[in-house]
Amino acid sequence: MAKTMAINAGSSSLKFQLIEMPEETVIAKGQIERIGLPDSIFTLKFNGEKFETIVNIADHEVGINYMLEQMKEHNVIADLHEITGVGHRVVAGGEFFNHSVIVDDEVLNKIDRLAAYAPLHNPANATGIRAFKKLLPDALSVAVFDTAFHQTMPEVNYLYPLPYQYYTRYGARKYGAHGTSHRYVAQRAAELMGKPLEELKLITLHLGAGASITAIKDGKSLDTSMGFTPLAGVMMSTRVGDVDPSLIYYIQEKENLSNEEMLDILNKKSGMLGISTLSPDMRDLLAVEDTNKHAKLAVEMWENRVLRYIGQYIVELGGVDAIVFTAGIGENSDPQREHIIEKLNFMGIKMDAEANKVRGEETELSTPDSTAKVFLIPTDEELMIARDVESLKNN
Ligand code: ADP
Repeated sequence: MAKTMAINAGSSSLKFQLIEMPEETVIAKGQIERIGLPDSIFTLKFNGEKFETIVNIADHEVGINYMLEQMKEHNVIADLHEITGVGHRVVAGGEFFNHSVIVDDEVLNKIDRLAAYAPLHNPANATGIRAFKKLLPDALSVAVFDTAFHQTMPEVNYLYPLPYQYYTRYGARKYGAHGTSHRYVAQRAAELMGKPLEELKLITLHLGAGASITAIKDGKSLDTSMGFTPLAGVMMSTRVGDVDPSLIYYIQEKENLSNEEMLDILNKKSGMLGISTLSPDMRDLLAVEDTNKHAKLAVEMWENRVLRYIGQYIVELGGVDAIVFTAGIGENSDPQREHIIEKLNFMGIKMDAEANKVRGEETELSTPDSTAKVFLIPTDEELMIARDVESLKNN
């Protein structure tokens, strides 16, 4: 029996899941928060119990060492050799990677070079990989890229109509994100429909705090809403999504803002937070939308931006066989699912209102006579990472 670790390392946090493969059983999961800050928080969930400790964790390597020790102490594992593979989420893979790969020095070098595309994420991902390679040298180390699934997009869809030399010189193009999630829910949708993924036209809606929408044809990503970075596309919790670029320079000049300050506003102070002036969290806005005009407007704008992409992708795909809701809002917010599908009624896409009263459970939401299926499929990026490790192990 092989145990595989799925890792999502951020700059000050690290989430982990230990999965028994090929059975795909989650044995333990948890996270380390506030790495490098006083009072780091370590959490481990195992056997229905939750263990939490406050401890000073100076860096990722110290944190991973601590996690492995804790796993031994709580009898999650008896020996480190039980962990035979470690799969790492890596945010930016550029044009180098169109699938998951075994990490060697050259791969690590490329992940480092791609830091310019994901300055907050790639360096942290690389740090996590290096620390695990040192502490578990015998385990297979695999990088799973958020962008890889979208590498199938045709040139027509991934290029921006900027001077072409910016693409050849700087890689200025659309890369997309959330690829592992889109890939997972698309596969699940095909399984639920009992049809080969290659024969389906799908629109997958990853609607969390960060949100992206993907059009999938012939089992491949045809187009996706995020862009050169995850700032583009639909309106998000705090990210602006698509906006006229000249407006940015106009506001910068009026408000005397530096590039960094403006980027911070576009990333962290816009979206639902920016419009509502209240909260980035959909739950907070829904709680007050009946009485608060700005909260209502933010929710309506959010729904509208999601709908625009669905409309665009139905046309790009030449129809749609299934629409899939996933991630925090997609999995939990039935009124938003209802409002979005309601607007598609004219095409014969219909939601079963009773079936839609569900949270976080894999469910077919469409009526039997709907012209396209509508599903709620909870995403599982960790499982997808573990599967990729497993398949590279067997290659
Ligand atoms: P991310 O991974 O991008 O941080 P998640 O996929 O965890 O985001 O989604 C988080 C979002 O899900 C929250 O901002 C919140 O608005 C939304 N959410 C969670 N539960 C509910 C709910 N019951 N109703 C509406 N929205 C919810």
